[in-house]
Amino acid sequence: MLIVMKPHATSEEIDAVKKKIHSMGFTAHSIPGAQRVAIGVTGNKEALEAEDFIILPGVADAVRVSQPFKLVSREVKEENTIVKVGEVVLGGPQIVVMAGPCSVETEEQILEAAVAVKKAGAVILRGGAFKPRTSPYEFQGLREEGLKLLALAREKTGLKIVTEIKDTETVSMVADYADILQVGARNMQNFSLLERLGTLRKPILLKRGLSATLKELLMAAEYIVSKGNHQVILCERGIRTFETMTRNTLDINAVPVLKALSHLPVIVDPSHGIGLRQHVSAIARAGIAAGADGLIIEVHPHPDQALSDGHQSLSGEQFASLMQQVQGIASAIGRSLDSARDEPAVPRPRSG
Ligand code: PEP
Ligand code: MN
Repeated sequence: MLIVMKPHATSEEIDAVKKKIHSMGFTAHSIPGAQRVAIGVTGNKEALEAEDFIILPGVADAVRVSQPFKLVSREVKEENTIVKVGEVVLGGPQIVVMAGPCSVETEEQILEAAVAVKKAGAVILRGGAFKPRTSPYEFQGLREEGLKLLALAREKTGLKIVTEIKDTETVSMVADYADILQVGARNMQNFSLLERLGTLRKPILLKRGLSATLKELLMAAEYIVSKGNHQVILCERGIRTFETMTRNTLDINAVPVLKALSHLPVIVDPSHGIGLRQHVSAIARAGIAAGADGLIIEVHPHPDQALSDGHQSLSGEQFASLMQQVQGIASAIGRSLDSARDEPAVPRPRSG
């Protein structure tokens, strides 16, 4: 149930509603919103009676939420959630592009990638330091050393950084470095991890599981939000189908459907979605045309030498061309790209 307070409800009236919810043995969640205060109720097995709440002072309405995902649904919050990463705004009118290598490999590689993606207009640098690989014999990432290199790239370029969080043990370490923590497809239903991330106050990029339905993705997001972290970005990264010509099948349907069902920002990962370098741009264009709020793209200075996902990684030039194409699609649908700011990340010392 969602309890909508009157525009001028006092804090005492809001507290009284929360107290009543707690006294019934349920959980009250404040739903951040620009227009009015709303309180979500969870934990009830059966439907609540709206009358129990409507009679309370300051309450405008009490409405049933029909979807199983409550706090992330549009029913509970009509306006888009805006996730802010410094000056970068996700979920607003501008399209945000995150780009960089699949894995952080060396200082030279990550700095070269960072400079190239920034030049082409990306505002967030991606790079895995903890890699969940299918084979235990493949490159597992540089771990904390990789995080340090990402932080160095941020310092040098001013780009924000997104990196994968693989397990609960490393949450505080990764959170110390990252601006956005990425939950990989293989961890989408790692509920202990999701709950732990719900206690952070940092944005979480939640990727759709390889065989997850949209409902399961939204329920996974609900795990994070119900613990108090409202800054969740959903990511469509392709699902497993019977098709073998491509690595995955990017479910373009997911974009408008998620946008309609949820107020959370939605981005598309065309690199993992198709898995073939020569087709990444086409799928990136399709994602933006379908209404995605952003993209995450794998870019490597030397894609053929990449330690992971080289076959789907773009060179700097290929990425620059993708950005031009995406810009064209964005303007056709009345949106624009948030592009890299020119100011240096670290203020230059004044001379004299
Ligand atoms: C990645 O972003 O490099 C990655 C491992 O993605 P996914 O979890 O979507 O497979
Ligand atoms: Mn990858």
